[in-house]
Parts: sequence; C-alpha cells; structure tokens
Amino acid sequence: MTKQTHAFQAEVKQILHLVTHSLYSNKEIFLRELVSNASDACDKLRFEALDNAALYEDAPNLEVRVFFDTEAKTLTIRDNGIGMSADEAASHLGTIAKSGTREFVARLEGEQKKDANLIGQFGVGFYSGFIVADRITVECRRAGLPADQGVRWSSEGTGEYELETIDRTTRGTDVILHLRDEEADEFLKTWKLKSVIGKYSDHISLPILMKKESWDDEKKEQVVTDEWETVNKAAALWTRSKSDITDAEYQAFYQQISYDTQPPLAYTHNRVEGRSEYTQLLFVPAKAPFDLWNRDKRGGVKLYVKRVFIMDDAEALMPVYLRFVKGVIDSADLPLNVSRELLQESRDVKAIREGSTKRVLGMLESLADSESAEDKAKYQAFWNEFGAVLKEGIGEDFANRERLAKLFRFASTHADEGVSFADYVSRMKEGQEAIYVITADSLTAAKSSPQLEIFRKKGIEVLLLVDRVDEWLLSHLYEFEGKPLQSVAKGAVDLGTLQDEEEKKQAEAVAEAFKPTLDKLKDALKDRAKDVRVTTRLVDSPACLVVEEGDMSSHLARMLKQSGQSAPKSQPILEVNAEHALVKRMAADEGRFDDLANILFDQAMLAEGGQLDDPAAYVARVTRLLAA
Ligand code: ADP
Ligand code: MG
Repeated sequence: MTKQTHAFQAEVKQILHLVTHSLYSNKEIFLRELVSNASDACDKLRFEALDNAALYEDAPNLEVRVFFDTEAKTLTIRDNGIGMSADEAASHLGTIAKSGTREFVARLEGEQKKDANLIGQFGVGFYSGFIVADRITVECRRAGLPADQGVRWSSEGTGEYELETIDRTTRGTDVILHLRDEEADEFLKTWKLKSVIGKYSDHISLPILMKKESWDDEKKEQVVTDEWETVNKAAALWTRSKSDITDAEYQAFYQQISYDTQPPLAYTHNRVEGRSEYTQLLFVPAKAPFDLWNRDKRGGVKLYVKRVFIMDDAEALMPVYLRFVKGVIDSADLPLNVSRELLQESRDVKAIREGSTKRVLGMLESLADSESAEDKAKYQAFWNEFGAVLKEGIGEDFANRERLAKLFRFASTHADEGVSFADYVSRMKEGQEAIYVITADSLTAAKSSPQLEIFRKKGIEVLLLVDRVDEWLLSHLYEFEGKPLQSVAKGAVDLGTLQDEEEKKQAEAVAEAFKPTLDKLKDALKDRAKDVRVTTRLVDSPACLVVEEGDMSSHLARMLKQSGQSAPKSQPILEVNAEHALVKRMAADEGRFDDLANILFDQAMLAEGGQLDDPAAYVARVTRLLAA
C-alpha cells in the first residue's frame, strides 16, 4: 500500500483539538498512557499466544523500551507486543469506538484546570501524545503477519493521518513522538523520564528499559550509553508482599487502573488460600464516576489468571451493586483460556465473587464502625457518593442483606445524615415496636410532612427516606433485626402502647362527637377520597392524606408519573384533626361547608408535595373565601 491520507473521525478531531489546545497541567501523563498501551499490547499478545505460540516469533520476552534522540527531538516508546495491522491502525488510531466522548469533551470544556489526567478516564489515552508532540509516527507490525506487512501511521494531530505499508522485521509497535520545541527541553532527559515512569508505571509487570547513563569526564556531564537497564520494579503490584508496598504505590496503582485523580477511599489486598486460591487487590473510590448509574457499564475489576491478563470487565467477579469497586483479581485455579460463559458458571469464580464481596463489605464496615472520627467521615463521604448503589444490594444479594442493612445511613427527625438502623433502634422508646419511616422528594419536604406531627410531639424518631431508590428499598426490606419498617403515611396510626389509656379514651370521645361532621365530609368528598376519618396523627395541621396499607405510596405514584410510567389510580384517605380550629369552625359553617371541605383536601395534597387535579377550582374556592 502506498501512502494514503485519511481524515479522522469527527469525535477524534474534537478530542485532538482539546488535547492540543487546552491541557496544561500534568502533561507528563502522556508517558503513562503510552506505556500503558504498550503493556496492554504485550498482555494481548500473551493472551493470543495461549492458543498460538507461533505468535512469539522466537522472541518470548515481552518488554517496553523508552529512548530518545536529542538531535531529532524524538521520544520513542517501543514494545514487542501484539502490534497492529493496517486496518487495525486505521480503526484504533483513527476512530473512537467507545461512547462517552461527548461527556469527555463537555467536561473538559467546562473544567477550569484542564487537567490532562482526565484523558485516561475516557479511553482515549493514545491521543495524549499530542499534548507534547506536533507529530506522532507509529511504526508497527502485527504479530504473525509477514515482514512486508508492517505499517507506518503518521499524523500532526489535526484533521488527518497518513498510512503506508513498510517492511518491518520485528513485531510490535514503536510510537515516535516528535516533540514540540518547548517540550523537548523537559522530556528528552533520562532522569525526567525515569522519574515519570517511577511515578506512574512502576507496577507495570513488564520490564521497562532505558539506556544507562554514565559520567563523561571530558564533556563533564552524564551521557547516554548503549547499555540498557530496567527502570521499573517490573513486578505486578498485587504479587508483591503487602509489607513491601507503600501507600503511595497503592495509590499510584489505583490511579493507573481507575484514572481517578483522587486517592482511593480504602483498599484491601489479600492472598486467599484454601479451596480456591487467588489474590485480590480491591479499591473503593472516593468519588462516583460519571457513569455510575449505567448498570450495564463494564465492571472495574480486572481478571488475571496466574499473572496473565484475561479480561477487564469481568462482571462475574463482583455483584452489580458493587460496580464502583476497582481492582484486580488474580486466580491460581482458573484455566487460562477461560471464556465469559465459563466464568458465569465456574464454581471457582463463585467462590471468588463471594469472597471478594465479603472483603468489600468488611472494608466498608471497618470504616463505618470505626471509633475514629476521620474514618466515620470517610464512611459518610462514601455513603453520599455510593449509598444509593449499595442499596441495590438488598434486592440482589440475599446472603448479605443483614450486613448491607447495617451499612445503610439515613436522615431522620433526629439528625440530617448518618443515622443507621442500629442508631435508630438504640433510641427507640419504651414499648415502641416499629421503625417509623416516611418517604419524600427532599429532606425539606419530608421534614414538613404533617404525618410527623404526633411523632414529634411524642419524641419518637422517624427515618426520612428521600433517595429516589428508597421507595424501591422499602418494597424489599421489611424489617431490621425483627423490627418492622412502618411508613407513617400508610394505614391508620397505631402507636400501640406508646399511647396511654387516657389519650385513647379522649380520642374516642372526640371522634364520637365529630361523627355528624365526618359523615358530611365523606359526602362532600366522595369523588376524591376513598375515606375520611378522624386521626390522632396530627397536632398543628388540620388534615393530611394517607394511603391504605397495601396501596402504593403517593410519593411513589408521583415518581412514576414524572418518569412517564403509569401508576395505578387509587384514591387517598383524608385524615382530619378534629381538634383543629379550622375543622371545628367548618362543622358550624353550613353555607361554606363544601368549599371548606374541598380546600381541606387540596391543601393536604399540596402539603405533601402533590399536584392538584384542578388548580383553577382550588383558586376559585380560596378567592371566594377571601372575598367573603
Ligand atoms: P485504550 O487504551 O483505552 O483502548 P487508547 O487511546 O490508549 O485507548 O488506545 C487506542 C487503541 O489503540 C488501543 O485500544 C489499541 O487497540 C491501539 N493501540 C494503542 N497503542 C498500541 C500499541 N502500543 N500496540 C498495539 N495497539 C495499540
Ligand atoms: Mg490506552
């Protein structure tokens, strides 16, 4: 193939424009990205060679070499990995297969700092070379192809790239960066490159080689010799012993696999022995990724078998509700040619998944239950980011329900955050049997619910569930340690023994006296309310709406409607406070009874954040009253 010019895909052009014009801090990460690609390429070769050893072409030692030419101002990252055919070069280096580019662009355009680190998060690391280079030439040959099918890809990182066939005896890839003048001074120095490799790529399991330097007495400076030396530790981090690994190394490793700019919140590193043998190195991030809510997104746990990389989205290794966990699992038992299908069925994988789930829960528990205020704050931070995802576990992981429920944190009438079921239970009143909860759209709405009045008056704590998933949670979690969860907006209030005999008697007397008014109310609202009844639930408000025990909560019905789904139409029950001044007055106001009854209903609806079916009618009634 003679030299051909191709245009980049539109998304690539956009990325390139951003890369060359707006990334200013952490420029050095280009080296991490290119070394990581070189290492991936070697992993791929090793994997394909499992079935076809000929791909090694008599050069089985996989390695990365980094070298430079000060005259030509070029920096080369060379690997003897899988390489690329011409078609592969065109598609891998000219298009972006992954989604998420738009988010990336939007994020970078908004970002003040223009941190180059962001680039790795979106799987477009190759283009980071253009942060420092005004031309990149890639020369490669795919393993297994003849020498005359080498490829040269070259681009200035603007609109197009060139592709031609070359002769190349060695398999693998050279990425040659033609550095911009101002970058050449910084990066064409052995110590600088070594320090960047040490910072980001120490844990890469392949040797990274650079040419040794030695002191030249005549020139009075360090000169580059022809002898190569390994400049990284070249042992996969997780295979090393815990006591030899520093916090900083764990952190750098985490950032390499997660592209997170922040350190992880917690990590756990263990070698598990027994029926199934494996090493796990798992991290909990501090911040949720932008695509956390995508339940289909690939998992963050990479699977290795005996140090050979197998796949990086092994969802069989972690339950979906722990999809935020990042890390590595290296199994000693699985076959090297394990397929996705096999993974789903393997008993070893099941054991690994159970073991890893327990580890992650244990890691969270040790933060949550820690005496240290710092750990507790970390746990709360974790909860704020990932709590809603962890709640999914109640439906997904039956075996760990109890442990999960203990990890949950809520707002309550006692504190705005951080209330666990255990905290709640420890504050339960003498004789209190249920854990009282209310669901709402927001903390403010929950706090001002009239249904809470009697609980406030009696000093009984109520959990305020304001997360979108909480309605769902309530339909899966009925109790905690034998104490039922009871919505205060469902069914009649039954405070059981929390109400004394005196109060009960008085309430009955009030209800008896109110009977005639109640009948009139039922009649006036017969098309709107399923029932009208007297309640002891209210203290300051004249009325509130509740639903029957088995019915869908009105909050959930509203959420469904908002998301365009249909909700079963069930009418609410209006509960009135017979001792409220307005309700008393109404009983005596024959002429305006109908208006007042409807206003009572509409206001109860508004108070719980609902919408009126006929707002104009409500306004007309209120206007009539005000004008009278
Ligand atoms: P990612 O590494 O997340 O896939 P990159 O932008 O870093 O994204 O690389 C794009 C693709 O280019 C890689 O997936 C790979 O197919 C190909 N590639 C890049 N560098 C190399 C290399 N050194 N050897 C072989 N293929 C490579
Ligand atoms: Mg990459």
